[in-house]
Amino acid sequence: MSVLTSKEPAEIQALSPQTVRADFPALDRIFADQQRLVYLDNAATTQKPRAVLEATRRYYEESAGNVHRAVHRLAAEATELYEAARQRIAKFIGAPSTRSMVFTHGATEGFNLVAYGWARKFLKAGDEILVTEMEHHSNFVPWQRAAQERGAVVRIAPILEDGTLDRVAFARLLTPRVKLVAVTHASNVLGTVNPVAELIAAAHAIGALALVDAAQSAPHLPLDVRALDADFLAFSGHKMLGPTGIGVLYARETLLEAMDPFLTGGEMISKVFDDHATWADIPQKFEAGTPHIAGAIGLGAAVDYLERLGRERVRQHEQQLTAYALERLGDLPGLRIFGRAPERVGVISFALDGVHPHDVAQFCDQTGVAIRAGHLCAQPLMHRLDVPALSRASLYLYNATDDVDRLVEALQAAQRFFHAT
Ligand code: PMP
Repeated sequence: MSVLTSKEPAEIQALSPQTVRADFPALDRIFADQQRLVYLDNAATTQKPRAVLEATRRYYEESAGNVHRAVHRLAAEATELYEAARQRIAKFIGAPSTRSMVFTHGATEGFNLVAYGWARKFLKAGDEILVTEMEHHSNFVPWQRAAQERGAVVRIAPILEDGTLDRVAFARLLTPRVKLVAVTHASNVLGTVNPVAELIAAAHAIGALALVDAAQSAPHLPLDVRALDADFLAFSGHKMLGPTGIGVLYARETLLEAMDPFLTGGEMISKVFDDHATWADIPQKFEAGTPHIAGAIGLGAAVDYLERLGRERVRQHEQQLTAYALERLGDLPGLRIFGRAPERVGVISFALDGVHPHDVAQFCDQTGVAIRAGHLCAQPLMHRLDVPALSRASLYLYNATDDVDRLVEALQAAQRFFHAT
């Protein structure tokens, strides 16, 4: 893999995004008058390096058996590859064991699994779940539904003007009635990185459990579930160079053991009788049916790729690039940035005066620059910000200042176009 800029030790080398790009075939695509694709929708999903594509292709070409079932060689190879991926991903997030790591189809399934398996079993009428105003719908609606069914209540901690969490209001809402704090590590709208270790400690101090939405942090920040002391943590593979349809739920073993299964069927049982069934040991108890084997293997390869690059180095590169993007975008008259947290990831949401966010995104697309527009799956936050929608540029390890420059040029052209018409 071609990621290093010289022969210096990895820790002190800056990441070279131009070199990294060579590992991503999709970034060779040419659009709009021979312009190379500038991909700035990484918060929605990322491009895939060859190492990931090859790992999944190899499984389908050579080892396409089902896992944990037949005794033949392909099944044994598939099981070995699948479980080896689990081991590498568990290490990547600092999980104490593979028993605490459930493969899901993504972050969304992880939250639903906890909402069905834990909340519906253990919540009582009058209990509370505390979330924040910056949650993605996937870490909000499952709690709303579970609370409605159990007679529990969802409380929402507000944000401050700069897009950081209002810690005073959070502390006030964190009463002994709260049984679960469900909070995002990094906001997919504001870019804010929440002080999750402190929020988890505060939750534990009043006897509540804490769940972390790591969908926007696992791809970008060093992550250690033990250091965070998280009870639950979920993320998606496709936002961190891996395939779609695969994700991870980490949970403490004792919790997984106490929880009810979410989906039932094959693979997750121990014994099945005419009138009842017993469950397999964790984590299989939560992996009903044939899993996304190629996806897990691909995610394992993505984790290897990120580790070879070095997560600190990725973080450093993204921080520098985010600062550059904020400065360049900040210089554009008529452009308003939402979210000014000092601790942040490279997600930048903005509004351009007099131009609808969808028109902004469409105009950018015509110049070969891919950004996102819409409510960004965070309607309660849109209400708080008093906007129907926003445009969003989100950066990753293969982006560089030339990508930001292309975005700025596209936005300037959009301003000229829409203000002239
Ligand atoms: N949480 C956050 C913060 C997200 O940005 C997303 C995806 N946009 C999700 C959860 C849900 O991820 P998925 O759709 O992959 O399940």
